Amino acid sequence: MEALIKELVETYGPSGEETAVRELIDEKVRGSVDRTFTDNLGNLFALREGPAPRLMFSAHMDEIGVIVTHIDGNGFLRITPIGGVAPHLLVGQRLRFKDGVIGTVYHEKIKGLKELSWPKLYLDIGAASREAAKERVRIGDMACLHQPFVNLGERYLAKAMDDRIGCAVLVEAARRLPPSLPQGVCFLFSVQEEVGLRGATTAAYRLEPDYGFAVDVTSVGDTPEAPLMAVSLGKGPAIKVKDSSVLCHPRVRELMIETAEREKIPYQLEVLERGGTDAGAIHLSREGIPSGAVSIPCRYVHAPSEMVDVSDVRHAVNLVMKLSTRAWPLLDSGNGSR
Ligand SMILES: [Zn+2]
Repeated sequence: MEALIKELVETYGPSGEETAVRELIDEKVRGSVDRTFTDNLGNLFALREGPAPRLMFSAHMDEIGVIVTHIDGNGFLRITPIGGVAPHLLVGQRLRFKDGVIGTVYHEKIKGLKELSWPKLYLDIGAASREAAKERVRIGDMACLHQPFVNLGERYLAKAMDDRIGCAVLVEAARRLPPSLPQGVCFLFSVQEEVGLRGATTAAYRLEPDYGFAVDVTSVGDTPEAPLMAVSLGKGPAIKVKDSSVLCHPRVRELMIETAEREKIPYQLEVLERGGTDAGAIHLSREGIPSGAVSIPCRYVHAPSEMVDVSDVRHAVNLVMKLSTRAWPLLDSGNGSR
């Protein structure tokens, strides 16, 4: 699985430009499902046919990045974020465009970090003039972090763990599913999560699943002076209770907990005070879709190097597999079964 993760995190794919990631995942997952297809926004669906109720697991393919807003007379590029990027985390970082152009981020004169804002940042691609810069980059071109994957032993470090690690978990779970399932399962690889859960919105509408699950990273509270949070690296995947985008359906949450306990999969309960996932869009689709989320604990989410624990990833694959192979109750809609 390590080779798959390395390939996924090192692929270029800011929101709206997920093509390379989608092609890679399609190639990896195609042999494990009945069929794959893509929609107008670029979402990739990987389907295992089966009877109702139908489950949908969603991991997003896009990563945070920047977009070029202006090129000045000396060839410096001005940028603005795609998704939640803190400007101070980009200073000194290398960014890479789709076609391979690389630059470094620096800032104008400031008195302290507090003064650092997007208008103070610029991207230097080594162009000596506006004309030279324009030969390589256009207004509206996007760039994302340029960081290699590193295996630290028990932990992995990379850019875009959010949410290529979720994509890797779904690809691996799809590979390990038995030939026959009690219900239909769709693995969705969604687009544009980082800019507002946009891909999952249209995908859930099209698919009309009976249950929805996001598979995404979550923050942790186990680093020096971190905000208080009861999720740590290495203690198992987290079963989401809530974040800013969703209050997970209590019945779904309980069935997830029951599955983890029966299968002896370690788990944690997640209350994320800031941030959202695809479950936020899925549960609001049509008449409302009972939803939950499997979260992979991750340090330094949206920083240039995000860290996950190998055992959490392994257990997350197992949890998604066991959720897919357990028989889910058929919903009696409209009876207030919540
Ligand atoms: Zn994410």
